[in-house]
Amino acid sequence: MATINDNYLKLKAGYLFPEIARRVNAFAEANPDAKIIRLGIGDVTEPLPEACRSAMIKAVEEMGDRASFKGYGPEQGYAWLREKIAKHDFQARGCDIDASEIFISDGSKCDTGNILDIFGKNNTIAVTDPVYPVYVDTNVMAGHTGPANDRGEFEGLVYLPITADNNFTAEIPSQKVDLIYLCFPNNPTGATATKEYLKAWVDYAKANHSIIFFDAAYEAFITDPSLPHSIYEVEGARDCAIEFRSFSKNAGFTGTRCALTVVPKTLTAKASDGSDVEIWKLWNRRQSTKFNGVSYIVQRGAEAVYSEEGQAQTQALVSFYLENAKIIREQLTAAGISVYGGVNAPYVWVKTPNGLSSWDFFDKLLQTCNVVGTPGSGFGAAGEGYFRISAFNSRENVVEAMQRIVEKFKA
Ligand code: PLP
Repeated sequence: MATINDNYLKLKAGYLFPEIARRVNAFAEANPDAKIIRLGIGDVTEPLPEACRSAMIKAVEEMGDRASFKGYGPEQGYAWLREKIAKHDFQARGCDIDASEIFISDGSKCDTGNILDIFGKNNTIAVTDPVYPVYVDTNVMAGHTGPANDRGEFEGLVYLPITADNNFTAEIPSQKVDLIYLCFPNNPTGATATKEYLKAWVDYAKANHSIIFFDAAYEAFITDPSLPHSIYEVEGARDCAIEFRSFSKNAGFTGTRCALTVVPKTLTAKASDGSDVEIWKLWNRRQSTKFNGVSYIVQRGAEAVYSEEGQAQTQALVSFYLENAKIIREQLTAAGISVYGGVNAPYVWVKTPNGLSSWDFFDKLLQTCNVVGTPGSGFGAAGEGYFRISAFNSRENVVEAMQRIVEKFKA
């Protein structure tokens, strides 16, 4: 008799985004004339940079010619792309990262989940609360947790609260954890990390032989020159951290799909016989076996991000969304609502007004302003009383949504 992976049954049936869709659809059906503006899901809206499109069109033409046609590429990605990334994103910032330590993939979502393939079942795992839900759910699927309690917290995970009280940066735990997920700039809070703060984590990880999973999907949104873009800007991080990056948000690749994971060759963890094993070798083995690389066309598109035009065009995209975030911050503040984030990140983290719960504020915003955001409690119990507004939208929609909110909420 066939059986299933029972761990999937531990996942909550009413996952955040389906529940949002259910409520929005019900409202839209009852109010067919309402012009709903969606500032909920973090998908980009603006078109692909011209430099990326041109590079992909050229690559398509190459595929049409027997002399330049490409079949399977290297599972780790083409060397010309890995070298550009190593040079521009890491070495130029003083990080000691080699092209051979960069693995090209079709997304950070997959990589942050797939990385668990190469780690043992008995690691103690820490996540922040609130958190990008993929980190939690993939650990549940992998059987690393018990069931969830009433607050939606899974037995066995260590939750590190991030709230206004700690400036949305988790305190370094007093207990020992083996794997730690950190995301900066943060989804959902929009918070950033200083180099000193990351150093405290690197010191902790080295002292405890832990590994940090550093998700830098939003690093392009950092405008403050004092902030680190990569955990490898901290000395010693090569020995305790894996970094995830993506072209989704800086170059609008959410539908095109290209990302990268950095696994330093100096990073090791223990096998059950007590020996030290190089994580790079395991990830290389895993990717070579379960993955056949990202399409040549898409990798050429990603490479174009590093051209002069590509840099200017991706910078313009990021600036556009950051200007949206600024409008959101300013308008909500004018409406008497407290906001965080949204300066070095495309997300504005809102304190729900009048003590409303996250879902009550969601319903109120939907019903009175026809604006959709994301309830903070959907990202974890400590997100209760908060609400995420995404800057990924057209200027027109952002301006109109904010006008509606200011009208309804300004005292
Ligand atoms: N990591 C974080 C923190 C994200 O918010 C997202 C997407 O929203 C991803 C990773 C996924 O990136 P990708 O599109 O590369 O799968």
